[in-house]
Amino acid sequence: MMLKAVLLDISGVLTEDGEALPGAVDAVARLQSNGLALRFLTNTSRKTSTAICDELQRLGFAPAPEQVFTAPGAIRRHLERSGLRPYLLIHERLEPEFADLPRENPNAVVLGDAEQRLDYAHLDEAFQLLLEGAPLLAVGTNRYFRQAGALHLDAGPFVRALEYAAGIEAKVLGKPSSDFFHAVLEEIGVAPNEALMVGDDVECDVVAAMELGLQACLIRSGKYRSGDEARAPQARCEASLADLVDALLETR
Ligand SMILES: [Mg+2]
Repeated sequence: MMLKAVLLDISGVLTEDGEALPGAVDAVARLQSNGLALRFLTNTSRKTSTAICDELQRLGFAPAPEQVFTAPGAIRRHLERSGLRPYLLIHERLEPEFADLPRENPNAVVLGDAEQRLDYAHLDEAFQLLLEGAPLLAVGTNRYFRQAGALHLDAGPFVRALEYAAGIEAKVLGKPSSDFFHAVLEEIGVAPNEALMVGDDVECDVVAAMELGLQACLIRSGKYRSGDEARAPQARCEASLADLVDALLETR
């Protein structure tokens, strides 16, 4: 199958705990020099799109800002398009992403990985708005992320809690939403089967991409847990991005 684009999940594939994973910088450079269109995708919501791009550049990945697609960035575009005023249940470091949007009299709830702010008072305030009909806009449904050698609660469990309480369904703007993947493919100008999604989250990266007709590869680093590949038996599975790139460029 003709491969024209590679969509790279960031955390757990390229980086972990603020460091580049072994061989990842070189692997990305080899993909780029082989003429593949690259995009960097993340649901991370503890920092702004700009901060994520800066960190990748500092680690040597050299993406242009337009190559980085974040879930908070997708939420921001949705708020602007729909003229919505957000109640932001997000991490304080993410606030600059939404700083210039109108916030008074909110009519939408934005839920990210807000860490300490995901307490009863804030969740209950969001719940009141949902009861009044505000849509729940979520970065993702990721169950957990990996940091400093352990798995930690991501935004997904809190999305489910609010959905359950208010009897509503969230609109997910990051992975695994089809809108997110389609926006990336459209921007590159390739068909789904010409793109390969590479991730360490079997549900939100791999299964979601394959359901849309993309090729996909599960990487056994980051949050990968033994046995995850059984949930995506059709997907490619490699120990690292470097191994995947070795295999890809060999068969090209
Ligand atoms: Mg990841």
